[in-house]
Amino acid sequence: MRFYNATTFLFRRHYEWRILFICFFAVHVPLLATLAFQAFSGGWSVPTLIVVLGATLAGTIFGVLAIHGLLSPIRKATNLLRAIQAGEHPGAIPTGSDDLVGRLLDGVIVAAHESSTRIARLETLSEHDPLTGLLNRRGFRKAAECALSRPGNAVLALIDLDHFKLVNDRFGHEAGDTLLRKLAQALEADLRRSDVCCRWGGEEFALLFPDTLVDEARLVMERLRASIALDTGLLDEAWPVTLSCGLAPLRSLTELDEASRRADAALYEAKEAGRNRVRIARS
Ligand code: GH3
Ligand code: MG
Ligand code: MG
Repeated sequence: MRFYNATTFLFRRHYEWRILFICFFAVHVPLLATLAFQAFSGGWSVPTLIVVLGATLAGTIFGVLAIHGLLSPIRKATNLLRAIQAGEHPGAIPTGSDDLVGRLLDGVIVAAHESSTRIARLETLSEHDPLTGLLNRRGFRKAAECALSRPGNAVLALIDLDHFKLVNDRFGHEAGDTLLRKLAQALEADLRRSDVCCRWGGEEFALLFPDTLVDEARLVMERLRASIALDTGLLDEAWPVTLSCGLAPLRSLTELDEASRRADAALYEAKEAGRNRVRIARS
């Protein structure tokens, strides 16, 4: 490191130029020695000088190009590390041979692999609900951006379990958690691949139906509501599990927040009307 540190004054931010400069200087040593010798001895030989000058020029060009090529894996490794730090996918990673540069590239490959796996795992965690495995609100918004990328008829459904607090109070929090998990499975099993399902929070779930009219969504939700009400396997105890639902149509991602407010108001109406029912938001 000493020589490295001692030469940092040369091209402080350009390591590559520093090496090239030192190489340039080293290649010129025979020429300088010849000049010094001939000046000292006083016997100038023009042909010798021309040969040494030509050889120095050829050696310089070759040395500069060769070092530039030899440094390219280090340049690549630096760019890869920079991409990893920026959270970008590093793309294709070159392999080196069993030397210093090869080992450096191997290190970058390991770092790139570990980082991208860790980033993917963190991304998955940050977008999913740990209890049910469904998307959380953040994941839902991202999936909705994709599902609503083309304008068209879509419907947002907000679902809320009826009297869920009583389930917790009577059968315990664990039983409540199991019910939430089973309900999440039931919702997912009933959806199309293009539909998006998430745990909106607590005992509330949201469903997004792209390319769907509100009447079609109402039929789907009525069927789902009835099948949940009839499903005796959701809770080990004899207890009526029912849900209420509010529906709001939307045509693009920009309407998602407004649609969620309207679906929430419709859900409130469903609760007020006696629960275990589906309501469409007023237009
Ligand atoms: P309503 O029919 O009006 O919706 O009544 P509710 O009892 O379902 O609604 P309320 O908002 O009064 O209670 C919701 C309950 O959901 C209270 C809270 O303790 C429970 N809850 C929220 N998140 C979880 C969870 O992750 N697990 C369990 N077991 N319970 C939860
Ligand atoms: Mg609620
Ligand atoms: Mg509830």
